[in-house]
Amino acid sequence: MTQEIGGFAALELHPNIVAAVVATGYEEPSAIQQQSIPIILAGHDMIGQAQTGTGKTAAFALPILHRIDPSKREPQALILAPTRELALQVATAFETYAKQMPGVTVVAVYGGAPMGPQLKAIRNGAQIVVATPGRLCDHLRRDEKVLATVNHLVLDEADEMLKLGFMDDLEVIFKAMPETRQTVLFSATLPQSIRAIAERHLKDPKHVKIQSKTQTVTAIEQAHLLVHADQKTSAVLSLLEVEDFDALIMFVRTKQATLDLASALDAKGYKAAALNGDIAQNQRERVIDSLKDGRLDIVVATDVAARGLDVPRITHVFNVDMPYDPESYVHRIGRTGRAGREGRALLLVTPRERRMLQVIERVTGQKVAEVRLPDAQAVLDARIKKLTNSLSPLVADAESTHGDLLDRLTADIGCTPRALAAALLRKATNGQALNLAAIEKERPLVPAPRGDRPDRGERPDRGDRERRAPMPLGEGRARCRTALGARDGIAAKNLLGAILNEGGLAREAIGRIQVRDSFSLVELPEEGLDKLLAKLKDTRVAGKQLKLRRYRED
Ligand code: AMP
Repeated sequence: MTQEIGGFAALELHPNIVAAVVATGYEEPSAIQQQSIPIILAGHDMIGQAQTGTGKTAAFALPILHRIDPSKREPQALILAPTRELALQVATAFETYAKQMPGVTVVAVYGGAPMGPQLKAIRNGAQIVVATPGRLCDHLRRDEKVLATVNHLVLDEADEMLKLGFMDDLEVIFKAMPETRQTVLFSATLPQSIRAIAERHLKDPKHVKIQSKTQTVTAIEQAHLLVHADQKTSAVLSLLEVEDFDALIMFVRTKQATLDLASALDAKGYKAAALNGDIAQNQRERVIDSLKDGRLDIVVATDVAARGLDVPRITHVFNVDMPYDPESYVHRIGRTGRAGREGRALLLVTPRERRMLQVIERVTGQKVAEVRLPDAQAVLDARIKKLTNSLSPLVADAESTHGDLLDRLTADIGCTPRALAAALLRKATNGQALNLAAIEKERPLVPAPRGDRPDRGERPDRGDRERRAPMPLGEGRARCRTALGARDGIAAKNLLGAILNEGGLAREAIGRIQVRDSFSLVELPEEGLDKLLAKLKDTRVAGKQLKLRRYRED
């Protein structure tokens, strides 16, 4: 415990910030945090190359919180994020880390919500403003002094902001802030356009990049599954039904997650325990010994707690939460495939973490194949196989030991041997669903995020755009049409940016966007569509009215 507090305390952050971080359950800083925090604390400009999942939000949020003055009630730090969804996420992260800093307030500024309350929160003295560029420019048009006191600027996911067409807005925002400010830029990629921004607007920036050496992972079969964050536990439970494992280690990010997941597994009858930095050394050894000798089958651990764990029985590693970097992924999955055995590693990927998956594939030089959640039939087959395996060794001598009893019971009860065997099975399986209908009922099938979607920021192929038939429609989505197309200078990213910001949707809510010459098609959630279209009634893209309408497929 002391050692892990040391991890963050060694960074010389304000003790109240460290306390909030430790309370959140983080055990030690991630690589990007280790490297960025001292640089930002020292007041340097910085370029950080990191994607979602590396812990980049805390990498800038913690030192920025340290550097602001809570007694001054005026905007001091501005964080720009490409979408409303990310802005809200970043604002929430700031609030969490500032929990023990009385007087610090955070405001999220994004499109699709009324401007008045946002401006009021800024004027009331929020020190941290987290904003999408489009909406912030709207505020600047009303009050050009709004950013005059900001002396820390963070561009989060800068490459995404440019993809969404925010370049001009960024220039307006830069101009509205004091030149003496500190500027920190985070981006997953550093194309020329980002370097140009850095050259113009950052002063002698330090570079931080998590170095990734190519790593080899042989004898381990790897797969990934796309899930929404709130469906991880049920995904894990489904996977466990069909995976043929001996012992298994699951990795999560926080102490709380080790406890929650271990108790969910325990409730389903698995022999599972949590392993985190709060667990005393002797208890930790007991857990590992139990995993070795089979008293436990599953350990749910944080990276810190699993250090040095070497249990040959482990056949599977589940990365329930994404590791911070490819090295730690390789390290984690190396827990299986020990002593030349084959192992299997599964990685759960939320929609926002797809890019991290690509980085892992690049660094390990291996494709991590996509798997789907088992369907009801697969679960049924696996359950019956388990039952068969557990009963078949018992059959051999059962008739000689219990055959006479069976005869007597069937006579006493007045039933057939089949009826009695069925009753015993029902008792032995303890209410477990063992037919398709019952399994389907117990597992409401939630559609997984789609894995085959191209990056929406990309421009679709030119060429025979008009003739191509619309793609098949995703589940729960409706197709909408606008008369704006490529000939109006529209690209998919413009449509995406407008709909995200004006419609207030999460990025995942928007499906495929197809831009043709004289029109475009956009997949939107069927649920609440009419309201959304009403909201977008006056939206303009490239200076023209979007006029999005439901598209009839016939
Ligand atoms: P980000 O890359 O900023 O989107 O962070 C990804 C996730 O990692 C978030 O859910 C954070 O709460 C979590 N996280 C960030 N830093 C740490 C840390 N040092 N220890 C554990 N979890 C962390």
